[in-house]
Amino acid sequence: MSSHNNLLEEIKSRLDIVDVISDYVPLKKAGQNWKGLCPFHSEKIPSFMVSPSKQIFHCFGCGIGGDVFTFIMKFENYSFQESLTELAKRAGVEIKKSHEDKMSSGEREILLNLHRDALLFYQRQLSQNQDAGAYLKDRGITEEIQALFAIGYAPKEWDALLSYLRGKDYKIDMILKAGLINKGVKGYYDTFRDRIIFPIFNNRGEVIAFGGRAMDDSIPKYLNSPETPIFSKSRTLYGLNLAKDAIRKEGFVIFVEGYFDVITAHMHGFKNTLAPLGTAVTKEQGRLVRRFTDNAIVVFDGDASGLKAARNCIGILLESGLNVRALPLPEGEDPDSFLRKRGRDAFSEFLNKAVSIVEFFIMQEEDRHIMVREFLEIIAQIPDGVRRGEYVKELSERLNINEVFIMEELRRIIKRSRIKDVGLKKEDIPEVPGDTKPMDERYILQIILHFPEMRERLFKAVSIEDFEDPTIRGIIQKIKTGLVDYNDLIYECNEQEKGLLTGLLLKDELEDPEKVFEDCLRHLKSRKRQRQLEELQEKIREAELQRDEDLLRNLLQEKQQILKLKV
Ligand SMILES: [Zn+2]
Repeated sequence: MSSHNNLLEEIKSRLDIVDVISDYVPLKKAGQNWKGLCPFHSEKIPSFMVSPSKQIFHCFGCGIGGDVFTFIMKFENYSFQESLTELAKRAGVEIKKSHEDKMSSGEREILLNLHRDALLFYQRQLSQNQDAGAYLKDRGITEEIQALFAIGYAPKEWDALLSYLRGKDYKIDMILKAGLINKGVKGYYDTFRDRIIFPIFNNRGEVIAFGGRAMDDSIPKYLNSPETPIFSKSRTLYGLNLAKDAIRKEGFVIFVEGYFDVITAHMHGFKNTLAPLGTAVTKEQGRLVRRFTDNAIVVFDGDASGLKAARNCIGILLESGLNVRALPLPEGEDPDSFLRKRGRDAFSEFLNKAVSIVEFFIMQEEDRHIMVREFLEIIAQIPDGVRRGEYVKELSERLNINEVFIMEELRRIIKRSRIKDVGLKKEDIPEVPGDTKPMDERYILQIILHFPEMRERLFKAVSIEDFEDPTIRGIIQKIKTGLVDYNDLIYECNEQEKGLLTGLLLKDELEDPEKVFEDCLRHLKSRKRQRQLEELQEKIREAELQRDEDLLRNLLQEKQQILKLKV
């Protein structure tokens, strides 16, 4: 553990938590700290704080908090080991792996290796299969682009990949876990057969899944890897690994629908293009993109079903805090077909015609009332109040409706959706510090965190068991074992404890800590006495019922003694 702690310290000393977190969450300076919209719960007013001096973060909305490791674990859904590896890489610190570490990160590594090997296999198959090569050539995909996107081909046989991977000594259960094979009545068979393979990468450039497209009318046309320990559809975007630098450079991202759209766009120089994985866009994907830009253009087929899909996509991207513009293509066209027919300049010109979301809504709905309502439902979800106001203004000008009326309606919708929010996903929201915890216990903890010299006095005056709240008791217990530095303390804390701890660390110092401390100690002791008396009273009642004279006498004596004690 001590070498572990040295490593943590080394990594932490080389990284600034503000730098790391601002890659994921846009932060603004607020006094000594930095502030932003919490990525862990939905909020409209920022209550997510990052402290450069303490190197911690804390959300005063949902109570979550911790150090830079906690953040990466939560945001990326990583194990501690994975967050360590990731941040070590970022900090340029080399990790010497102990045997134990190798075991714990083993599964992820095997799954990644499996995917890497499968990718090489599919690529080699493509070079050997004329039909597949012809198919891609027919769609205008050059060999250079095939290599860039690492496109491959899965052969027709039932177990070509399986026997290849078995030959490399991978175990069946891991190949199954990777989603590369399925189990049928007659045994195992390859998931992808006779399909063009589009590897799916995470934004570190590791292949984590595959998409397979049929070359004929087979159903389904597209087949993706199932969810695995290394692949979550809702948190991955096709093309992001190749697009992220261009997105930063161009200052916006282009959202399209399909893999071929992404590939063709890249081929024509629109490298800031990406797509969701065959399903609707998710909020997580929106947040993922916000690490690189705040602006998105959604490109879609201008027919009815394209419009409908675009509307969902636009709503979710707005909700995740992006500025969104919409770009309908002529009916029946997707970016792939449009680019191949009309070329780069025509598409570029089209991009300049992307419309604001107000125009987008006016464009599609004939009934003004329905349109306004649906529009407001969507912008009610936008976290930024200023931006909401801008949309309202634009809408009022465009439709010639008084802004006040629109604002009033919007407020009603927001109020209703807040009530709805509260009922959502309770397990995602850690206990908010301060709601049920005894104030005296919280103050005491806050004081000994800010004034470590006071802890001696605390431990002399009361015992750990005197603390009623289990979270506070847990932290104080750890402090008593000699954890002085809060960096070490955070490392030992569970989630609830981290949330409380970081919240208290970010609180302003108390006016007169000496006095508050004494008051709280007195209060704590008197609550303890109250508890003891209540318990005793219960026993006395019991003894009276049993007519146990001796016991009763003892209990009453005990009660007298407690009452005599000064607090
Ligand atoms: Zn939060």
